[in-house]
This record gives sequence, C-alpha cells and structure tokens, in this order.
Amino acid sequence: MPVSFDGVLRAATALSGVLPATPSWRYPLLDEMAGCEVVVKQENVQPTGAFKVRGGMALVAGMVERLGSGLPEGLVTASTGNHAQSIAYAARAHGLGAVIVMPSCAPEVKRRAVEALGARVVIEDGTVTDAVRAARERAAGAGWYFVSPCEEPDIIHGHATVYLELLREHPDLEAVYVPVGSGSGAAGACLVRDAIAPSCRIIGVQSAQAPAAWRAWREGRPVEDVCTTRASGLAVAASSGLPQRVMRGALDDFILVDDDAIDDARRLLASCAHTLAEGAGAASLAGLLADGDRPRRCAVVVSGGVADAAELADLGAPSRR
Ligand SMILES: *Cc1c(COP(=O)(O)O)cnc(C)c1O
Repeated sequence: MPVSFDGVLRAATALSGVLPATPSWRYPLLDEMAGCEVVVKQENVQPTGAFKVRGGMALVAGMVERLGSGLPEGLVTASTGNHAQSIAYAARAHGLGAVIVMPSCAPEVKRRAVEALGARVVIEDGTVTDAVRAARERAAGAGWYFVSPCEEPDIIHGHATVYLELLREHPDLEAVYVPVGSGSGAAGACLVRDAIAPSCRIIGVQSAQAPAAWRAWREGRPVEDVCTTRASGLAVAASSGLPQRVMRGALDDFILVDDDAIDDARRLLASCAHTLAEGAGAASLAGLLADGDRPRRCAVVVSGGVADAAELADLGAPSRR
C-alpha cells in the first residue's frame, strides 16, 4: 500500500508550520439535539474554507522533499472546487503556476475563490470525469505536473491529519462520522484510527444522490453511478482506486443520507453550533442523525464551509422533509 501512518506523521510535520490545528469542541445545544456528545471538527475555518488544503500542502511539501530544485513549473488538476482551491493555494505558497479545470457545474463562488488565489481556471463542459481528462491533456502538453484528485498518497496523508489532530485531542471517541466523495478523507481517517485509536469506529457518509463510493465499498469492485447531489464537495460519479483499497477492510460502516437530510443538518449546525457548512460539510452530522446505532460520544467533521448562493438561501428555508 502506498499510504501509511508514517506518511501521515510526515504530512503533519510539513503542515505544522503553515496550517494551525483547527478547533474541535462541543456545543451544548447540538449535544441536546443529537442526544449524545458531539465533538465538531471545524475544517470550515481553514484559509480555503475546507480540509482539502491539507492535501495540497502535503502533496507539494512531498514534491519539494523528493525533487528539490527539479520541481515542475506548475500544477494542473480538475475539481468542482475545494481540491481546486487547495492546489491553487499550495502552488501559490511555493511559487508554482496552477491551472484548474473545472466542470461547468462548479459553483461560481468556488471558481472565483480559485482565481483569487492566482490560478488560471478553465471551464470544461461535462462531468468531473471529463474535466480530469482535459486536465491530464493540458498537463502533458505544458510539461506541468498532473495532480490526480484522489490517487496521490500524499493528498491522503494530508487529509489524514484532520483525524490525527481529532483523535489525539479526543482519544475517547467511540465513532467519527466522515463525509465521503472519493473517500480520500475517510481513507486517511482509517489510517490514523488503526494506529492510535483502534476502538474508535470510522463511519463513512455519502449522499444518496451520488453513491458511487458507497456502492463500490459494499460490492468490492469499481462502480460508476448517478451524481445529482446538490453538495458539490460530494459530487463524484465514479469510485476511486486508492481510497477504496484503504477503506475496504477498515471502514466500520457506511451510511447514505438524502440531500434534504444534509440541508437539515446544515440548518442545525448554523443554529446550534454557529457554524456555516456547505452541503458536503454537513453530511457527517446528517449521518450521525440517521444512525440508528447512536454512540455516546462521537465526532462529526465540518469538512468545508464554502457555501454558494443557493446554499446560503437554503439555510433560511423550511425543511423539505
Ligand atoms: C472533497 C470534499 C469532501 C469529500 O472528500 P473525499 O476525500 O473526496 O471523500 C467532503 N467535504 C468537502 C467540503 C469536500 O470538499
């Protein structure tokens, strides 16, 4: 396996000087609403608004270590938004160029944030899969490095540092609910749990409107599936090889939640935890609320807070359920 707990520790060292640990604490009203102790890990306070900046920074730190002055001139990747911001942020921090191919469905707020970080955005019609193909071609043409959004070991190592901080600070958690798109975050959570908190359950949560990773994990084979979720951070139409290999024997459970349930969880985070979550950032709480087997003490990860205009408007709207 190209990923390891040692890799996570290396990523944590690389990130320690550049991204401070994010808060993880409880909100009494949220505990009351959930009927159990809920530690909220706040990745929405990252400078890019999402945990993915850890992956980008860990990736480039690893490249600097391996390649030294032989670094490529720039990075090319494809993303609906938060991975895009992560790569743009990491490229800027290291003086590299960045081109991000975004599918036309990517939220405007995420596109503008990428441009504000100095990266060039190219819009590609079609799905994320089409954008990935276009990014690969551009990278090959320019001699820049193509960053695979979910197959880079150091991105998984970087994402895992969320769970290193969380499980070090709260070693007595019974379960952690992790939002899943491709599964790079959940794979990182499994690596850390296995090493430092073996009795903690890692529970994946995905939107029922984009269930490719959930199906691939249950069926033990690569799958493509529908992808109509409103949560852009979870909008993945195909399962990913490396995260699935890590999650296979390690993830304890995997829950599907409806987009409407995710919206309810976003409203609960806003009203009970003073926290702005985008759809993907509330999936983890939605998973806890849908879990019949409620732990006494658990954590949810607000993985991102880059809410677009529709998501902001939805916060004040009544529940659709
Ligand atoms: C990417 C993303 C996820 C899903 O992470 P994966 O590593 O793709 O499973 C969850 N939440 C937010 C905010 C994201 O940007």
